[in-house]
Amino acid sequence: MIDLVALTMATVGALLGAALLLRVRQYRLRQRKLELENAGLTAAISSSQQWAEMNEAIFQNAPVSMIATDRDGLITSMNRAAERLCGYSREELVGTACMTVLHDKKELESKAAELAQNEGGVGDRDGFDVLTASAVDDLAGVKWNYMRRDGSRVPVSVVMQTVTADGSSTDGSTDGGTDRGAAGFAESGGVTGYIAIAVDITEQKQMMARMTQMATHDHLTKLAGRALLQENTAQAVERARRYGTQVAVFVLDLDQMKRINDSLGHTHGDKVLVEVARRLRGTVRSSDTVARVGGDEFVVVMPDIMNLGDVEQCGLNLVHCIVPPMNIDGHEVHVTASVGACVYPDFAADAKHLLKRADVAMYVAKEDGRNQYRVFTEDMLKETVDRLSMEHVLRHALANEELRLEYQPQVSLGKGVVVGMEALLRWTHPKLGEVPPSVFIPLAEETGLIVSIGAWVFQTACREGVRLREELGMDLMISVNLSPRQFQQRDLIEVIEGALHGSGLPAESLEIEITETMVMVNSTTTLDTLQRIRDLGVKIAIDDFGTGFCSFTYLLQYQVDRLKIDQSFVRQAVYDTNAAAVVRTIIAMSHGLGIKVVAEGVETEEQLRFLLRRRCDEAQGRLFSGAVPASEFARVVETVGGTQMSIRSL
Ligand code: C2E
Ligand code: MG
Ligand code: MG
Repeated sequence: MIDLVALTMATVGALLGAALLLRVRQYRLRQRKLELENAGLTAAISSSQQWAEMNEAIFQNAPVSMIATDRDGLITSMNRAAERLCGYSREELVGTACMTVLHDKKELESKAAELAQNEGGVGDRDGFDVLTASAVDDLAGVKWNYMRRDGSRVPVSVVMQTVTADGSSTDGSTDGGTDRGAAGFAESGGVTGYIAIAVDITEQKQMMARMTQMATHDHLTKLAGRALLQENTAQAVERARRYGTQVAVFVLDLDQMKRINDSLGHTHGDKVLVEVARRLRGTVRSSDTVARVGGDEFVVVMPDIMNLGDVEQCGLNLVHCIVPPMNIDGHEVHVTASVGACVYPDFAADAKHLLKRADVAMYVAKEDGRNQYRVFTEDMLKETVDRLSMEHVLRHALANEELRLEYQPQVSLGKGVVVGMEALLRWTHPKLGEVPPSVFIPLAEETGLIVSIGAWVFQTACREGVRLREELGMDLMISVNLSPRQFQQRDLIEVIEGALHGSGLPAESLEIEITETMVMVNSTTTLDTLQRIRDLGVKIAIDDFGTGFCSFTYLLQYQVDRLKIDQSFVRQAVYDTNAAAVVRTIIAMSHGLGIKVVAEGVETEEQLRFLLRRRCDEAQGRLFSGAVPASEFARVVETVGGTQMSIRSL
């Protein structure tokens, strides 16, 4: 904004500078005249051509456009700069009415009306009559357009000068403090004409427009920014209040932006945002405001809504317009959006609440499974309070020792024994009770709390793992889940190393589970981090395999140790031939690459039988055991060991 002010100052400065230059010259001439008068040479000067010639030379060569008129506004003279500016020659214009030739009647009338609003202005006059002495003060620095000969318009900033009988002039920018102001001349009948000094402000206007655009619009998508959104919303609400209509505000948040940025990189992520912006614009009316207010958050303001049915339809349209796959540099990208809406005046009393409550509705749409649309209702307020307080209490969960780890056994299908355990985080809040990981892990990721929580998970899993290994006398593999946010953390390697050293767990017995999308980030930092983890001797497993879009090529590149087939495939494989084919292929290809396969979420013997037939290496699921506290793990190991024979017999 400061730049805008500076720019405005510069424009005014340039204009005043030009006027000042002229005034300084005139002043010097007057001084010179005085000196000459004093020297007794008055007669020589005043009667001579010299004075007039000098004046004419200044007039003609001034770098700004100057048009002189008589008292009635008929052009008496114009300088070269004015000829260039208007495209007319002096001969063509002298004798014509400045106001009719160089101005648009409508524009003049509206300018006159505008000036009429200012007290004592010239609005009571007809637009063509504005060029009169009393108008000069009002017209100082006025910006309007000159019409060129070719019909185009050039924006100019004009300073008016009143020319008086004694040859002096007063410019319209004087503040009236001078005792011989413009109006005074008119009254005394001393005014002989006017000079309009105009500066072409096309460039300044363009630059101003560009800078205003930059200040008020999002650089990437060219949509409105937050400030403009707030302004437009407030205006829409004001209009609705006056005319008894409604305003709908939609907050739209993309569901997978983080995943897309993580997997395809930010350049592609940006292209997705641009495409989303394009689709949104194409879905709404041109009078609606579309704004980008955060990384992947957009807001649409629809003024003058007549009924709630329209709001419903618009909300659905917004959700649906995002769904068709996007082609981003050859990648087919699937994006969905969660949309929340709120309507003035039914559910919000002002613009601020309208925006806030649409946001609340958007969160509800997200929590209800994403890719959908919700309108704000009062009930939603309570839910948000819950969510906010959840975030608040999660911050204290670690310090209050409300977090703990449970371990789920991983069973070797060949040997029928427990070979590893996955550490799974649990949170029991004193009042909220057991909060599922599907609720608090995303919250911990969003808030960045996952970094400190994750460090605690590493330390605890390694420490408890070592104790269990010693207790059972077994070489158990300890698996720890790593979230994308943790992966970006700078001291991740130090955290892992610290946990290993602190516990004495051999690095080869620790495995981190990362998701497919995390390995798809092609950045050098990702590769580097993974390599450094491998350098420690720590193993890498791909979690939930099959749900993202990881290809085997990537796996080769990252030297993955284990692949965990997502439980959705395991579940479907027994009745869906496609799912069965996917599982078969994953196992066959992994084995081809020397990667072990773990099946997740094995719940039934039928599933286990299928996996055994396909030579899946390991399995994890409630069929063997859910996650249990470390203190119960020994018992689970024993039970699974007892079923060894039955696994073999399947
Ligand atoms: P995940 O890593 O895929 O973990 C497997 C999930 O499947 C666990 O859910 C587990 O309890 C559940 N599960 C195990 N056996 C069965 C079964 O037979 N049937 C079914 N339906 N589910 C089964 P949980 O514990 O709710 O964890 C959910 C997710 O939370 C995990 O998915 C993981 O992504 C995340 N998570 C858990 N602990 C941590 C952690 O310490 N750090 C991070 N970053 N993420 C964690
Ligand atoms: Mg896992
Ligand atoms: Mg999993």
